[in-house]
Amino acid sequence: QDGAKKFDYQSDVARLRKIVINSLYSHRDVFLRELISNANDALEKLRLTSLTDPEVLHGAEQMNITLRAYKDEDGSSRLVITDTGIGMSPEELTANLGTLAKSGTTEFLAKAESTDTTGTGNLIGAFGLGFYSSFLVSDRVYVASLAAPSSANPNPIQHVFSSSADESTFEVYPDPRGNSLGRGTEITLVLRDDALEYMDTTKIMDLVNKHSSFATSFPVYLFTQRTEEVPVEDEESDAEESTPLPSSEDDDEEEAVVEEVSEQDEEKTPKTQSITVDEWVQLNSQLPIWTRDPKTVSDEEYERFYEATFKDHEKPLAWAHFTGDSGSGVSFRAIIYIPSHLENSYWQNPMETSAKDIRLMVKRVFITNDLGEDALPKWASWIKVVVDAEDLPLNVSRETLQSNKFLKQLKSIITRRIIQTLSKLHDAAMKDKKDEDDVESDVESDVDGDKWAEISKVYNNVFKLGAVEDTKNRDKLGALVTFSTNQGKDVSLDDYLENRKKGQKQIFYLADMGKSTEDLAKSVFVEKLHARGYQVLLLSEPLDEIFVQNLKNWKRLPFQDVAKAGLKFGDEEEDPVEEKEKQKALTEQYKPLLDWLKKESKDVVRDVVISNRLVTSPCAIVADTHGYTANIEKMMNAQVA
Ligand code: ADP
Ligand code: MG
Repeated sequence: QDGAKKFDYQSDVARLRKIVINSLYSHRDVFLRELISNANDALEKLRLTSLTDPEVLHGAEQMNITLRAYKDEDGSSRLVITDTGIGMSPEELTANLGTLAKSGTTEFLAKAESTDTTGTGNLIGAFGLGFYSSFLVSDRVYVASLAAPSSANPNPIQHVFSSSADESTFEVYPDPRGNSLGRGTEITLVLRDDALEYMDTTKIMDLVNKHSSFATSFPVYLFTQRTEEVPVEDEESDAEESTPLPSSEDDDEEEAVVEEVSEQDEEKTPKTQSITVDEWVQLNSQLPIWTRDPKTVSDEEYERFYEATFKDHEKPLAWAHFTGDSGSGVSFRAIIYIPSHLENSYWQNPMETSAKDIRLMVKRVFITNDLGEDALPKWASWIKVVVDAEDLPLNVSRETLQSNKFLKQLKSIITRRIIQTLSKLHDAAMKDKKDEDDVESDVESDVDGDKWAEISKVYNNVFKLGAVEDTKNRDKLGALVTFSTNQGKDVSLDDYLENRKKGQKQIFYLADMGKSTEDLAKSVFVEKLHARGYQVLLLSEPLDEIFVQNLKNWKRLPFQDVAKAGLKFGDEEEDPVEEKEKQKALTEQYKPLLDWLKKESKDVVRDVVISNRLVTSPCAIVADTHGYTANIEKMMNAQVA
């Protein structure tokens, strides 16, 4: 091409293109999802920019995405995706499409190169490859783009980026057609011979429906052609017009008339001819789901909306869709989602992470997903939310948002909803469990129970963190935590209280992080309590001990470390008097031994006593009531070292 500048791809891009081109056939559908998602991003950018600089809209008023398949004069089959978004300058074409701008792609590369090809296919599904996925289906790709005018670039010129699948270079040149686009970007895919299925409008409709119906709130139009049979004008007779209307007054007559009509139809088949009708069909005419009545939205729609919005290909575990009023006169609609997994970064520094997936919209216009540091309590930073406020000004800036009462109120409403959603599932699961234990009750589905088990598996530690951090919601979050016990079943603290023994005034626990709960169950400290039928919480996670030390008690029952001295079972009154007498007598009897042991080990232990807390073990070393536990000492030693 004349005047074209040639560029070498940045080395990472070359590597990536190779992987893409060689990757699995069965995953290539994703290219359309990626291109529509880019078109949507470009339109969102334009809309945001236009709020402060209406000049960018110059050139074309409408904001939409169009898809069109056609056969070119040169015989090639082409699919064209056009948007009227922000567009790209020639420099941007080079930088955005010729280099790896996004960190996600680098992450993808690292993973893809350490997996076999089967894995790569799944990775493409999971990451999304962006623009490069065009090469899954194309021999050559042309990207024509005309940037929206700005003060920096008041007279933009449309340029083309062109690259073929098997070259390691790309070209950028002025579009010989001039500024034909008005504004935006047009991506022309010259389809590979084995990808001609993407010429089929039915196939395109299916794909958009499946992967992109929630990817954009801008209209997506598909160019279709259908043949229509139309009556040939001049052959028209006036027989039809003169067909008598059936009379409702006379039944017999009516029948006769009907016969007459059908006879007439048979006699003269109307002459028709086929014509081709061009039509732009809108593929996404549904309202955005958060604006709809929750009763009309299916689970699948919620799931697909989640996937498209948050780019997470694993289904969410739960969601809540609600309308709210912030109290300061701002009404809004929101959907909150509980993802099926926490991002790796969450536990690396949970108190530093701030929520980054609260998408704030004003009257359906996306404004920001950065509500700042304090948008939510830290423990809840994993939540994914879309919220659409009715009564905020469209040009609300981040700064004004920060100082806006609305944000504070939104924060507390969302937090409350997260907890409410979790508590509901928790309570339903507990109810299910009770019903199951109740032999009389009908066997009902335990969907709630399964759901809760999944949530608990991912979020149990999050709830502990929440109970420690978020003192206002401590009781509600603490109620969601479960612990292992010596009795083999995981219990919540409320379960524990319900099953406590008569007279029991403490919640027993043994903490030793790093040890398995099986090992903890075998500990000498648990022995006697176990024999007497007490539950002991077995705490093996680092957060567990922080949790019990912060809460100190649950519903006024204090936590008691069973490895500390001063343990009261609570059922001592039930002990026969002889038991106490016996203890006294034993202490007398073994006084010489105790004295000798004390003397011999005076440097390492504080006291030696006869104990009733052991069953089969001959002796145990316990921590002083007010001293550090072995576990905390371990942590302190680790810090010193
Ligand atoms: P991502 O969308 O994750 O940034 P892509 O590979 O999909 O990665 O796109 C790379 C970049 O190219 C985008 O960030 C954007 O700057 C630019 N881009 C792609 N498609 C368009 C488009 N239709 N209009 C404007 N810019 C685009
Ligand atoms: Mg993209």
